[in-house]
Amino acid sequence: MPKLLFLLSLLFPTLALAAALPVEQIAAGVYVHRGEHKDLEAGYGGDICNISFVVGDKGIAVIDTGGSPRVGSGLREAIRKVSRLPILYVINTHVHPDHSLGNAAFKQDKPVFVGHGKLAEAMALRKETYLRNQVVWVGADAAGTEMIAPTLSVADTHEIDLGGRTLRLQAHPLAHSPTDLTVFDTASKTLWTGDLLFVERTPSIDGNIPNWLEVIEQLRTTPAAHFVAGHGSTGKGLSAALDDEKRYLGTLLNDVRAAIKQGLSMEQTIPTAARSEQGKWLLFDAVNRRNVALLYPQLEWE
Ligand SMILES: [Zn+2]
Repeated sequence: MPKLLFLLSLLFPTLALAAALPVEQIAAGVYVHRGEHKDLEAGYGGDICNISFVVGDKGIAVIDTGGSPRVGSGLREAIRKVSRLPILYVINTHVHPDHSLGNAAFKQDKPVFVGHGKLAEAMALRKETYLRNQVVWVGADAAGTEMIAPTLSVADTHEIDLGGRTLRLQAHPLAHSPTDLTVFDTASKTLWTGDLLFVERTPSIDGNIPNWLEVIEQLRTTPAAHFVAGHGSTGKGLSAALDDEKRYLGTLLNDVRAAIKQGLSMEQTIPTAARSEQGKWLLFDAVNRRNVALLYPQLEWE
């Protein structure tokens, strides 16, 4: 190893060693790295969601940073292969660790960190748990992990001018999570849904299904030519992908409500709720189980 690189690797162990992640250009100036379909569990590695960047005439916006500084750094290397323009914004679509714990890789760029109006509060509440779990989740890559709260909070809508293209941000009410923010690029008509849309893998819930079903109908009206879901990709259009998700969430909601009405316990509900959806989604058993465990106590008091 050249001496300078070796010294740098001592100073920045996780940052200097990351190789550029593979990215796909889905529209002019719009690049996406697609993570693997793994559950967020011990040893998952930090690279399971879609993380992106958008290149304007003035600079670059990053949309989600992955689950560790190493993954964030790999995205940053991929950006530097495409453009030397400044990284002006780092946008987090929501609080979940697989989307936001790579933020530290971009601190050196001094970007504006952008998120939902409730993101800072959600990060503060979850910080201790996420940082404690991080070493279990990503091992040695946990080094240098920070939760970096937004310096620009979006309560409702906000526009970011990257030069030649505008990113329209919209904050949503409690749906997938308490902090869901969508992004629409006016130049390419690309919509980033964050985890308001799961493709291929079972949608996971950390919020409210009835609200989420309303947001799905709102997303449907977006004049999108391209879309980037929180996880997964599809040849299907946005509307068809939203239909699949709506069907799963609606089925789960109805089945859990029906089970409670019949007097079934949560333990009895877990293996039965949304069974008709098994086989249509990846990671179904683990994620559906957690969804029922979250939903059942919420609905018990309806
Ligand atoms: Zn999420």
